[in-house]
Amino acid sequence: MQIVDHRLKPGWYKASPHHGGALEAPSLLVMHFTVSGAGAKGVADYFVSPTANASAHVVVGRAGEVRQVVPFNVKAWHAGRSVWRGRPNCNDYAIGIEIDNWGRLMRTADGQVRSSTSRILDPALAVEMTHKNETRPCLWEVYGETQMSALVAVTRAILAAYPTITEIVGHDDISPGRKSDPGPAFPMGRFVSLVGGRGDAPALTRTVVASRLNARGGPGMQFDTLGVFLAGTRVEVLYDSPGPWAQVKGALAGGGEVTAWVSDQYLA
Ligand SMILES: [Zn+2]
Repeated sequence: MQIVDHRLKPGWYKASPHHGGALEAPSLLVMHFTVSGAGAKGVADYFVSPTANASAHVVVGRAGEVRQVVPFNVKAWHAGRSVWRGRPNCNDYAIGIEIDNWGRLMRTADGQVRSSTSRILDPALAVEMTHKNETRPCLWEVYGETQMSALVAVTRAILAAYPTITEIVGHDDISPGRKSDPGPAFPMGRFVSLVGGRGDAPALTRTVVASRLNARGGPGMQFDTLGVFLAGTRVEVLYDSPGPWAQVKGALAGGGEVTAWVSDQYLA
């Protein structure tokens, strides 16, 4: 994924009418959650609709789908009242990414987990954590690996195209108290290292030792195979999870570089 003429390529783009003027030399990347289950398309459709009065540059869905509604050289309306390092109105100098996620969840008296709109959700999607700006724990929707992988790919493309960006923050950093996104379930530390760690530390590479190692879309056998890495292929390890799966980047048999998950016992 790369950025050409301030748009993600390859990518889906539709113009939102809700935007400001030119965004020159952005210095900040702001992460948000959508408080929705609409998917990237549903959220993008909302941002494109005449009544939304809000937008972000990009929306990333749970299935890893990516939708762009404002070019990166134009101000989007995602931050609202905000300040970072003493500088107000973050929309004037920030690129905003919306991640489709319900955010805060609730457990009803009968034990069900529900969204803020009362939709019944799989309890496995809920994690109890305390927000850094709060004192009591509550339930939050977890961010899945497919979505995180897409988010990392988008963010790497943005950081490569806009080297003036020096910091990645949450909406809850620039509008504390007023906003709680992307919240405690968002693995900010891991995310920042995945998208930016390559600049300082030398890349960690390993060699594929299986004759044909499946490259999957997520950390598990249930995820689709994107292709295979052949024995001897050098792959860059982006994230070696505590479990048996590692996220790597490398060239598939037959060509084409991918970011994918592999069983790490076949890496040496
Ligand atoms: Zn937000």
